[in-house]
Amino acid sequence: MPRDPRFDLLFEPVRIGPVTAPNRFYQVPHCTGMGYRRPQSLAALREMKAEGGWGTVCTEYCSIHPSSDDEPYPSASLWDDQDVDRHALMVDKVHAHGALAGVELWHGGAVSANHYSRETPLGPVSLPAGVNDPVQTRAMDKTDIRELKRWHVEAARRAQRAGFDIVYVYAAHSYLIHQFLAPSNQRTDEYGGSLENRARLLRELIVETKEAVGDRCAVAVRFSASTGGDDEDQDTDEPREMLELMSDLPDLWDITVQDYSYEMGTSRFTEEAGLEKTMSWVKSVTGKPVVSVGRFTSPETMLRLVRQGVVDLIGAARPSIADPFLPQKIAEGRDDEIRECIGCNICYTGDQTGTPIRCTQNPTMGEEWRKGWHPEHIPVKGSDARILIVGGGPAGLEAAVSLGKRGYDVTLAEARRELGGRVTLESSLPGLTQWARVRDWRLNQLGKLANVDVYLESVIDEEQILEFAPDRVVVATGAEWRRSGVGRWHEAPIPGWDSPSVITPDDVMAGTTPRGPVVVFDDDHYYMGGVIAEALRRAGLEVTLVTPANEVSTWTTHTEEQHRIQARILKLGIAVETGTSLARINEGSVLLESIHTGETTEVEVATVVMTTSREPLDPLYQALADRIPIERIGDCLAPGTIATAVYSGHRYAREVDAATPTGPAFRRE
Ligand code: ADP
Ligand code: SF4
Repeated sequence: MPRDPRFDLLFEPVRIGPVTAPNRFYQVPHCTGMGYRRPQSLAALREMKAEGGWGTVCTEYCSIHPSSDDEPYPSASLWDDQDVDRHALMVDKVHAHGALAGVELWHGGAVSANHYSRETPLGPVSLPAGVNDPVQTRAMDKTDIRELKRWHVEAARRAQRAGFDIVYVYAAHSYLIHQFLAPSNQRTDEYGGSLENRARLLRELIVETKEAVGDRCAVAVRFSASTGGDDEDQDTDEPREMLELMSDLPDLWDITVQDYSYEMGTSRFTEEAGLEKTMSWVKSVTGKPVVSVGRFTSPETMLRLVRQGVVDLIGAARPSIADPFLPQKIAEGRDDEIRECIGCNICYTGDQTGTPIRCTQNPTMGEEWRKGWHPEHIPVKGSDARILIVGGGPAGLEAAVSLGKRGYDVTLAEARRELGGRVTLESSLPGLTQWARVRDWRLNQLGKLANVDVYLESVIDEEQILEFAPDRVVVATGAEWRRSGVGRWHEAPIPGWDSPSVITPDDVMAGTTPRGPVVVFDDDHYYMGGVIAEALRRAGLEVTLVTPANEVSTWTTHTEEQHRIQARILKLGIAVETGTSLARINEGSVLLESIHTGETTEVEVATVVMTTSREPLDPLYQALADRIPIERIGDCLAPGTIATAVYSGHRYAREVDAATPTGPAFRRE
């Protein structure tokens, strides 16, 4: 289908200093959990974006010097010529598809504790360094500032040698340059105190970087349009004054905000184009192109923002991760096929845990080089096997779509009236609506596959499978929350667990309205406990969230949501008991126990929602495992995230009838 001519605007070239972006689709710098450690994987990942039509593709944050080492978080680096070769791998692949390559030069200052290099952390003044690390920075003297500028220029020259088209001066996100810009920089020399003085280092870095590489490379500045505040009412006064001071100095302004959890807000807290209100003033104070992000997946929103003069380039990290081929799909009038980001931030957990990136929607993300997976292509089938998939949750749906694309004759049977499994159920919980996109994209794909038959309201049992006699059976029947309370804290069922007052998140999602007061016992630590507490509180019940962790939904620090979740829980009037376990369930009460002191408290409670761990539902597999070719995927194999289930379904589809590797299942660097 040809594209709607209205969208031609998105495919116009944009001049950025000495270079020209072929279109307005701009993959802003984003971390991958790969950095300098996995250059081949990284090059293939970035290449995929360029192949998919992103006109500009940037690196992640790229350290200019060992005094900025972010271990255990894997940054890129341009410390020496070895690094040049690593980056050239990526640049050449990006260029091969006609895209520009950008590098985000970075110095972390006080954010870098330098665990690897053991260099003394640097900062405008001496302040605590790292992430609650018991070390401080050394206040930089004039020699240090001169050195910093030299490192930046040398790294820029290396970047140019690697072939980059855009070189960043990274002045946002609390890193070193931002530490100079911030009011906390009360140095008494010309680099601190007044606004002009605090902005001096940034100005000098822009000028010197342009002098060094500006003949061939554009110099971009990543800058925060606000200093903080409520999402709807951010404080933009100082950033505006600073930007006015340097308005036409760089070739491109890459505009973000100070607060990561707002910039890359999850869909639970932030809508598409969430930064618009905060940054829409920027173009009125600069004549240079502006790029910004907003979890853009709707071509209409992109069009509106360009037309209204909010941005010149559509910045994207997550939308390009969930769908590296988003631009190409718009170009070809296939917008309905965009694999829309669901705003879950699983992609960010890779960086946070020092591991390669993964994505809930796009199971091929991070697997481009090590497994040779392509998000849009999959090898044709290896046999004429007829395959039955039991269960249409994220694992079963992904397997059905991918096996269908390979050309297999697939039957998908689902017990419920609706496909989607846990995704359908969970997307009805507060803030999780967009998670249904995991189901919806796959339903759209299934609609295009004549070789996949779907049967709803079909509870499949052992006999039916034997009678149907498919060549292969894939069990994707999911898991259920345990009522017993067994999990991380309790290895054995909690006394009283079998009381009628104990329910699980599955009951809440199935429509059970419990009686209050309610205790949600969260020993799962991801989103479910917090979301269930929120749902029940919004339904008017008195709720206490009890968790052995020291904070609510503690794993969500990795998705950059924890403090927002905790704030929401507290603002809703949900009582929180941290460092506390559920010791016993009595008639009309529970016994809470401090995990630190063992002290117990009896609390009146009508209902307990047990959110601790899940039981795989695999009786079909257990009954037939020795009799027919049958495999489990997703939560019925091992309960995990939605991303794990989608990956599991995809992996099955890729590997069926393929040669089994003898060593590790992927290439290593
Ligand atoms: P996953 O995350 O692994 O995809 P889900 O729990 O989301 O798992 O989905 C499992 C799906 O399997 C649910 O939609 C459930 O209704 C379905 N299901 C479970 N048992 C059967 C069965 N015996 N026959 C057909 N469908 C089943
Ligand atoms: Fe979007 Fe989630 Fe994929 Fe990240 S992991 S790109 S937030 S769908």
